[in-house]
Amino acid sequence: MPYRAPVEDFAFLFDHVVGLDAVRQTDRFEDASEDVTRAILEEAGKMTNDVLAPLQRAGDLTPAKLENGVVRTSPGFADGFKAVAEGGWIGMSADPEFGGMGLPMTLTTAVNEMMSGACLSLQLAPLMSQGQIEALEHHASDAIKELYLPKLISGEWTGTMNLTEPQAGSDVGALATKAEDNGDGTYAISGQKVYITWGDNDFGGNICHLVLARLPGAPAGTKGISLFLVPKYLPNDDGSLGNANSLKVVSLEHKLGIHGSPTCVMQYDKATGWLVGPEQGGMAAMFTMMNNARLGVGGQGIGIAEAAYQHALAYALDRKQGKTPVEGGTGTIVDHADVRRMLMEMKADVYASRAIMLACAGAIDMGTATGDAEWKTRAAFLTPIAKAFGTETGIRVSEQGVQVHGGMGFIEETGAAQFYRDVRVTAIYEGTNGIQAMDLVARKMMDGGEMAHRLIDEIEEQAERARPTHPNMAEAVWQACETLREATEWLVDADMQDRFAGAVPYLMAFARVLGGHYHLAAALADKGGAREKLARFYIKRMLPQHAAYLTHAREGAAGAFALTAEELAS
Ligand SMILES: Cc1cc2nc3c(=O)[nH]c(=O)nc-3n(C[C@H](O)[C@H](O)[C@H](O)COP(=O)(O)OP(=O)(O)OC[C@H]3O[C@@H](n4cnc5c(N)ncnc54)[C@H](O)[C@@H]3O)c2cc1C
Repeated sequence: MPYRAPVEDFAFLFDHVVGLDAVRQTDRFEDASEDVTRAILEEAGKMTNDVLAPLQRAGDLTPAKLENGVVRTSPGFADGFKAVAEGGWIGMSADPEFGGMGLPMTLTTAVNEMMSGACLSLQLAPLMSQGQIEALEHHASDAIKELYLPKLISGEWTGTMNLTEPQAGSDVGALATKAEDNGDGTYAISGQKVYITWGDNDFGGNICHLVLARLPGAPAGTKGISLFLVPKYLPNDDGSLGNANSLKVVSLEHKLGIHGSPTCVMQYDKATGWLVGPEQGGMAAMFTMMNNARLGVGGQGIGIAEAAYQHALAYALDRKQGKTPVEGGTGTIVDHADVRRMLMEMKADVYASRAIMLACAGAIDMGTATGDAEWKTRAAFLTPIAKAFGTETGIRVSEQGVQVHGGMGFIEETGAAQFYRDVRVTAIYEGTNGIQAMDLVARKMMDGGEMAHRLIDEIEEQAERARPTHPNMAEAVWQACETLREATEWLVDADMQDRFAGAVPYLMAFARVLGGHYHLAAALADKGGAREKLARFYIKRMLPQHAAYLTHAREGAAGAFALTAEELAS
């Protein structure tokens, strides 16, 4: 079944659940009226349905390949990228001074999710450019901004991010790429980077690499890292493409999924680069890019979950098997209780994870518009949850999508398996979900759990408001909050190793409770409607998982280390 962008779901969430109103009331985002929002969602929906979705299979069946050192992209991808660029979708939230639209991140996040659901492999190209645009806006010199931003925003040029090296994955501080001052305002960059997404393409423009490297004498670890902009072609003063820089794609990775996205091993041999931000300020600059990308990757998981759900539902409504016990039913497997269970779980989690993602994006917008530290702290707290829960949802939902298809789910022609293969990486890149969870329980709890408690308070306040109309659902959400509150109190007093052992289950529990909160908001806004029924399903059947997660989270590290490394192998 072809992908259909969930325009109505986004509109409902904006209007009733995650409160785009507050964002619209700020001076900065006053142009993002309801009409503008609606028009954007519909236009983006048309583009994703008609242009990107047809490319998804082509990318899988005809992967990007390396020919004579140049990447040849999958059939139709160059035109697909052109459509994204011409629609202005790359620079939706970018600075209007350089050609961007200056719209809220909330809207960009929604459009990015739609693009991912339609064609994840291709969507990675604009996502990388968006991260680079944001990093340059915040940290680059005026000269770099003037030269690069208009071209990145228009899509004439594309951006990449180069952190990972063979010995430096999660531990970025172990990187060994070197930078030497050329004494003329440029630097010579040498080293190898691996797994570089869209490290090259044949779209016709420049490819601008943001590369983390170490200057001579810089301290070890992340403190000694600087960030450089290293273009494939050295631009002339008028912005036209000059000589080729001394960098190359050594090879492309053969991957489980996202075959249409070229994942490159890059070699830099005294390549000319320009410093972005101060010397040894590389991680701060890179974090600007990574935070944007983390939310974007969460949205990739949700986009694939949406697409896999639509695909599975269409199959279930068509496939006849066995006696269907529902009177007046469809006569297809959708009438079997276990198939219904799967479809309901899939739909309920797509909604929950999408609401969390949009709440995070809204907090980013409020932080940008008001400068208020509270919003920034909230966005920082929600980012690892949005990333990890969004991508876990993508994996779980696409796995259930395979199951709904039965044997046909395991056969590639149906396309169900591609969702599962494509989405798997989202839990790995942009910081593995384990690293996200550790960030949540360590850095994001440095305030002694204050932000966590403020969110829990808010969830309880809504539950209190919901008691008169939805007493059972409200009580379940309120009780879940109390369990989460106790676990949070335990966590902030716990030894770091104990926190880390329970980090992933704690993050999942927090997401489950937030999901209950947003489902309850939907029930309040749609009394007697389908959204209220879905909320009841989630709150009764899926929210209780938070308790098991929290029991696990509070067990500490000792049990995880109960077997020695030798015993693990025995
Ligand atoms: C398809 C693809 C595209 C990518 N694109 C890019 C890109 O564009 N740019 C880029 O720079 N990188 C990119 N990456 C790299 C990606 O970000 C890394 O793979 C990721 O950060 C994990 O690093 P690693 O693979 O070295 O795994 P490792 O760091 O070796 O991790 C292995 C396991 O150990 C765990 N682990 C590691 N350290 C710790 C710790 N301190 N505490 C607890 N657990 C830990 C991890 O969670 C994981 O489960 C891409 C990767 C892939 C597969």
